[in-house]
Amino acid sequence: MAANPLSALSLNDTTDIDAQSPERLVSMQALRDARVMIVDDEPIMMDVVQAFLEDAGYTNFLTTDDSDGALDMMLKERPDVLLLDLIMPGKSGFELLAEIRSEPTLRYMPVIVLTAASDSDTKLQALELGATDFLAKPVDPSELNLRIRNALAFKAYQDQLAYNDALTGLPNRQLFLERLSWTLRLARRHNKQCALLQIGLDRFKQINDTLGHETGDEVLKAVSKRLAATLRESDTLSMLDDREDAISLSRLAGDEFMVLVSEIKHPEDASIIARRLLETMKSPLMLNGHELFITISVGIVLFPQDGQQGTDLLTNVDLAMGQAKLHGRNTYAFYSPETNARSFERLTLETALRKAMERNELELYYQPKVETATGRIIGAEALLRWTHKELGAISPARFIPLAEETGLILPLGELVLRQACQDAVKWQQGGCNLPVSVNVSSLQFRRGDMPAIIQSVLQSSGLQAGNLIIELTESLLMENAKANIDMLRAIKLLGVRLSMDDFGTGYSSLSYLKRFPLDELKIDQVFVRDLPDDPGNAAIVGSVISMARGLGLTVTAEGVETPAQMNFLKMHGCDLFQGYLFSRPLPLNEFTALLAQKTNCFSKSNMN
Ligand code: C2E
Ligand code: MG
Ligand code: MG
Repeated sequence: MAANPLSALSLNDTTDIDAQSPERLVSMQALRDARVMIVDDEPIMMDVVQAFLEDAGYTNFLTTDDSDGALDMMLKERPDVLLLDLIMPGKSGFELLAEIRSEPTLRYMPVIVLTAASDSDTKLQALELGATDFLAKPVDPSELNLRIRNALAFKAYQDQLAYNDALTGLPNRQLFLERLSWTLRLARRHNKQCALLQIGLDRFKQINDTLGHETGDEVLKAVSKRLAATLRESDTLSMLDDREDAISLSRLAGDEFMVLVSEIKHPEDASIIARRLLETMKSPLMLNGHELFITISVGIVLFPQDGQQGTDLLTNVDLAMGQAKLHGRNTYAFYSPETNARSFERLTLETALRKAMERNELELYYQPKVETATGRIIGAEALLRWTHKELGAISPARFIPLAEETGLILPLGELVLRQACQDAVKWQQGGCNLPVSVNVSSLQFRRGDMPAIIQSVLQSSGLQAGNLIIELTESLLMENAKANIDMLRAIKLLGVRLSMDDFGTGYSSLSYLKRFPLDELKIDQVFVRDLPDDPGNAAIVGSVISMARGLGLTVTAEGVETPAQMNFLKMHGCDLFQGYLFSRPLPLNEFTALLAQKTNCFSKSNMN
């Protein structure tokens, strides 16, 4: 099997090599792998040249006496150097040379012209057409050897400039793409499987932003060294055959690296490599005396199952890497068509969501919070609704996570807060002193300006702080307890109340919650669903209610649908409930009508 010429040709490191040896410029390995093409109308001449070159260590030959078919052969096989006869029946060497130089992929291939004529006109004409060198017939073996070696060394130098990334010295995108197409061609021909692993550094942008681009560059260099060393380790290679180019690392752009594995036996081989790479990043990098912990995310695609063409594989490996990042980074993910479908859906939804925000297509619904003991409405939770023209109603369970991933939750969350406060002011104006509960995602907190935003919204809407309740999730409190406690305290100082939403679905315990300045705890609907029959949930709900009350928290049960559930909660001292039993979330006008019906608010005079 022919080796990939692009990887075979490498400039030699000249240290420790005898100045006279042919290895001074080009390694023996490179000589062995170099693809030498000979075009000559005399087969004997080609045999002689080939025999000389074989003696010198070359093993890869392409020969043809058909000058008319030679160009096609070159385009297909991409030789590293061409020995070209000038005088041939059919197409002459001059014509062929002109054609070669007008082919973009052959433009820089070294061409050594074989000529019996030594007149300067012939030489000049050949040089003008782009010949690299001359070799006089009859061929002298030493001269042949030296001229080819020099041509290869020059090509290797050119390749190095054109094909290597200046920062890391790794193969660049150009070389990677050529290797990929070469590898796929061989894999198709020999019915083999190969794998592509895309590696992205986690939060690299943050490194650049906080430590500066110079440090960013140092990180890239250090990471590429470590990844390359890991891939070279014999145990990684031993599962493949031990060809030097069986596995190669390239840097395509920024923090995007690519590993091409030219042959795997099982998909598991690819995940072994991914795990090795993840493992190797576990120890910190030492940069300018600082320890830096860098993790990576790895996407994997397999040929042929994940794409027939290089372009498909590249698209899919990018999706797979995105998936690894979604799974929390510092991990790997195989591509799957479902990933593709999900990503497509995400992209469509994301665009649609942006438009919906611009066009005010999102609407707030309100679900009453009801006092268990009296059945009175004593509050309302704002719940976002999105009705898409074609797709219909899209559940917040789908679009809120999307808004969080894309950062859209920041403007969206502020919009919700503003609208909810304005609506609550309207209830107040109608005579209903009803607090409004607003869900806030942890990303909104991470920005750190939540207290300031709340303050400004309260001010502009004119809502009393006591009539705003912020609902938080457990994950927020678990994330970064110290910073979050400070922020929650700042919000409390404004007079706003805090509620722990969906309690029981995370990992926090009640004793842990004591550290946070909370006012309310909402029991998640999964515990309410099977009440009162499920003894486990009945016990949990019973004890959560009593402990929460012991901590001075108001307890609200979510998702109450049946009178039996309601009675159980009432009996155990749960203060409030929300649920379809009383009312589904309603659009503002219907919610206002419900208030008018169930309370004294919005009497005719107030409504106008
Ligand atoms: P959540 O805050 O726990 O809201 C309660 C969810 O339970 C709502 O789902 C509500 O419609 C539903 N629900 C209420 N009563 C019943 C019932 O009796 N039975 C059942 N099966 N379900 C009931 P929804 O509106 O689909 O919202 C889902 C989640 O999306 C919310 O859970 C909340 O976490 C999030 N969300 C909604 N609006 C916003 C928002 O404006 N901002 C943020 N950050 N999250 C929001
Ligand atoms: Mg909620
Ligand atoms: Mg909830």
